[in-house]
Amino acid sequence: MKNIAVIGSGTMGNGIAHTFAQCGYSVALIDISADALAKAMATIGKNLDRMVTKGTITEQDKANTLKNITTHTELAKGVSGANLVVEAATENPEIKFKLFRDLDSLCAPDTILASNTSSISITKIAAQTTRADKVIGMHFMNPVPVMKLVEVIRGYNTSDAVTALIMDLSKKLGKIPTEVNDYPGFVANRILMPMINEAIYALFEGVGGVSEIDTVMKLGMAHPMGPLQLADFIGLDVCLSILRVLHDGLGNPKYAPCPLLVNMVTAGDLGVKSGIGFYKYTAGSKDLVLAPRFA
Ligand code: NAD
Repeated sequence: MKNIAVIGSGTMGNGIAHTFAQCGYSVALIDISADALAKAMATIGKNLDRMVTKGTITEQDKANTLKNITTHTELAKGVSGANLVVEAATENPEIKFKLFRDLDSLCAPDTILASNTSSISITKIAAQTTRADKVIGMHFMNPVPVMKLVEVIRGYNTSDAVTALIMDLSKKLGKIPTEVNDYPGFVANRILMPMINEAIYALFEGVGGVSEIDTVMKLGMAHPMGPLQLADFIGLDVCLSILRVLHDGLGNPKYAPCPLLVNMVTAGDLGVKSGIGFYKYTAGSKDLVLAPRFA
């Protein structure tokens, strides 16, 4: 396993490409947007610079990592010769289903197809292909070069051999893989999203303010970030769509998204990415400032 194709060069794709390239793999980074690819390469360069400054890698390691990455806007060219494709495109079922149908016809029969999806069923993605035994979830955490966990998700028909290979590969990347089965939200989001939703309900019902809720969870439970700040970081739209997957997939009203979350997403308050969520974000500032509505 030497040649890796990464599809989608956004938040996750650039981190996944960076991580494979730094470990010596040859990476084809693919996106429909040339702008996104240029931004991704700039981000990877900046993140490598930070590692050089910290002394965790050398200038030579940085140069080697960058040399291992090529960028492509054409899917067929990018995936040609890939042993493994890691798809990290936009979290939209139709986009992913079409990509996997195309990948199934473009890639060699033994190419493994992985998805970094946060919530879409791996079994449903695999059903778009004629190789369900070789389709698997490889759920990296953000920021990928830093976070150790890879949640490895077995679809209903993923083979033992492919699962073992991806577990082993994740370890070669310096990560700690954990094998889970394909049910809505897998493990990470099955547990995280109800906690975030409950924190939003506590705010909605006036149990506590934004600072109070986050402080209780930070200091009381030793979480590095409170659930409302974490929701802003993940993106409130992403949280809402994962909660809907849990609600639809498990059919239990306890997963119903809090109306406040629905309102915030409808109004465009998406957290860090839109500059406002439970907190207000100003470029260049690391201060945690409450959004005026919650101050
Ligand atoms: P993003 O919006 O930052 O990037 C998505 C990229 O995919 C964009 O650059 C877009 O141009 C590209 N894209 C869209 N359609 C494409 C196509 N057909 N072919 C090639 N490229 C295409 O999204 P993200 O946050 O990086 O999320 C990517 C995936 O990772 C999603 O499935 C998401 O659920 C998952 N994920 C995200 C996080 C997170 O914290 N952001 C964490 C874990 C998993």
